Amino acid sequence: MRLCRFDDDRLGVVDSSTVRDVTAALDVLPTRPYPFPAHDMFVEHLDAVASRVRALAPAARVLAIGDVTLLSPVANPGKIVAAPVNYEKHRSEAGKDPGLHGNNPGHLFTIQSAGLFLKATSSLAGPGQGVVIRMPDRRTDHEVELVIVIGKRASRVARQDAMAHVAGYAIGLDISIRGSEDRSFRKSPDSYTVLGPWLTTADEIQNPGALDLQIAVNGDVRQQSNTRHMILGVAELIEMASSMYTLHPGDLIFTGTPEGVGPIHPGDEIVATIADIGTMTVTVRADRDAAAPVMSASAGASSGRGDAT
Ligand code: MN
Repeated sequence: MRLCRFDDDRLGVVDSSTVRDVTAALDVLPTRPYPFPAHDMFVEHLDAVASRVRALAPAARVLAIGDVTLLSPVANPGKIVAAPVNYEKHRSEAGKDPGLHGNNPGHLFTIQSAGLFLKATSSLAGPGQGVVIRMPDRRTDHEVELVIVIGKRASRVARQDAMAHVAGYAIGLDISIRGSEDRSFRKSPDSYTVLGPWLTTADEIQNPGALDLQIAVNGDVRQQSNTRHMILGVAELIEMASSMYTLHPGDLIFTGTPEGVGPIHPGDEIVATIADIGTMTVTVRADRDAAAPVMSASAGASSGRGDAT
C-alpha cells in the first residue's frame, strides 16, 4: 500500500496516477492528552489505519496525483537518523574534493568509525513544499537516499531480527550545505530533509537492498546507483542505530547517498526516483527572507525585497 499525506493534512492511498482521499481512516487513531507521544502515531497504528483505508477506498473521492500538494508521509518522526558515507564511491569522490569534505578529516571516516548522525526534525518537508536555499553563498548539494520508516519500537536489535521493525520505505533528499561544520548543523535548515512521495509499506518491497535509485536536476541525471552498493544494508543500519538509542514508530533512517552529489540552485527542478517506490518532483527556490536588504527609513516598505539570484 502507498499512503500519502497531501494538501491540508489529508490522507491518500495511491494507485498508479490517482490518489483516493481516505482521511477518515485517521479516525482510528487514539486521542491523547498533553504531553503528546514523541513518536509518530500514524505509523504506530499503521495496521489499523491500513485496514480502515481498504474499507474506505472503493467509495473515496479520486484525485489526480498531479493535482495535489504532497507533504511528508510521516508528519511527526521522533528522530531523523542518517548514515554518512554509506556508498564507497561517494566516499572516494568526497576524498578527492575539498568542497565536499571541508578539510574535516572526520568527514572521510568509514561509516563503521563515523557512526550515524541526526538531522533536526524541523528540517522535514514534503516534495510539494520544495527546498528553500538557506545560505545562497554556500555550496548546497542534493543527496538522494532510500529512507527506512521504522514501524516498531527497536532497542538493541540484531540484524537478523531487524526487518520486522520496518513499516515501509520512502525517497529522501538529504540536502547538504558543504563545509567544515558538524553534519547535523549543515544538514538541518528548514526544508533540507525532503521525504516522499509517499510511504510504501514494507510488504511491497521484495528486497530493499536491490533498488535502482537516481536523481536528475533540470533533466540531467546526476546520481544513478543501486542500493546493493550500500556498505551497511537496511538490517545493519537498524542494528547500528538501535545499538545506541531506541527507535520508535515513525523514526526515519536515511541510508546514505551514492556518488554524483552536486550543487542545486533556486529555480532548479529535482526529480528523484527509487524503483518499487516511485518518483517525486521537488523545486528549489530562494529564501525571500534571506534576500531582504536591511530596511532603512528611505526604503519603501516592500521595494527591494527580491530574490537573491
Ligand atoms: Mn546523506
